[in-house]
Amino acid sequence: MHQELQALQPLLEVKGVTLQYKTSELLVTATYRVDFNVYNSERFVLLGPSGCGKSSLLKAVGGYMPPVEGTITLNNERVTKPGPDRMMVFQEFDQLLPWKTVVENVMFPLVASGKMRPTAARTQALYYIDKVNLTKFADNYPHTLSGGMKQRVSIARGMAMEPSILLMDEPFAALDALTRRKMQDELLQLWDDTHFTVLFVTHSIAEAIKIGSRILLLTPHPGQVKAELNSLPRALQNTAEQQVLEDKINNMLFIEQQATAEVFHG
Ligand code: ADP
Ligand code: MG
Repeated sequence: MHQELQALQPLLEVKGVTLQYKTSELLVTATYRVDFNVYNSERFVLLGPSGCGKSSLLKAVGGYMPPVEGTITLNNERVTKPGPDRMMVFQEFDQLLPWKTVVENVMFPLVASGKMRPTAARTQALYYIDKVNLTKFADNYPHTLSGGMKQRVSIARGMAMEPSILLMDEPFAALDALTRRKMQDELLQLWDDTHFTVLFVTHSIAEAIKIGSRILLLTPHPGQVKAELNSLPRALQNTAEQQVLEDKINNMLFIEQQATAEVFHG
């Protein structure tokens, strides 16, 4: 019984989370009473249209944005500030320090957080650089790398910290389609290897289906939970199967806007 309960204990608990931005004139509600749980080794995807509050939710889980309502707990502890147990990978390619090499970039948080001394940090960094297939480029500077390679470095840097959860905010959105697909495959291979827990944000239905073991659908602004898709297959057998699922999600997500658009176009 006790073991069962332990197994069911979520790693990350997001409960009734409302997020707002306040400026002197404006109050923007980004999300409204959002609930979800992420369990160990899940690939949990937040999917919704642009502006529905996905990045805000990730910032809140990262400890950068306090909820005005609701709570966020990780490993049974309230999230109140950023911490090394939550590492973030962003969409932008300029997340790396340009004056540091690949290995120095990956080592940096390990040393800065006091987690490791430089020698051990270098070994750990090289291990994860190898996992993202960049060993040959360990001593390169970021400006010599392609966008995809820079994102691999950011992923290695996040993973090297061995966080409880890796937070990824549209990490492949700025890549060309071919590289994007390759990076998705690589991320899944990496997951097969280490079973890390990831909270992955995207507005692409196809990407959500490919990456996610579970998907949370959010409504347009302000983001509310529309549906939770559980027990998704690890890999869809064929494109027809994929299309069916994509259509289903598309209908769930966009049915209201489609109706509006039809009216609009008369
Ligand atoms: P998403 O990542 O899903 O595109 P965001 O979390 O970035 O959505 O934004 C959610 C809402 O909050 C949007 O309406 C956006 O305009 C607003 N927003 C985001 N950042 C700020 C900010 N710094 N100040 C004011 N409003 C913001
Ligand atoms: Mg965003």
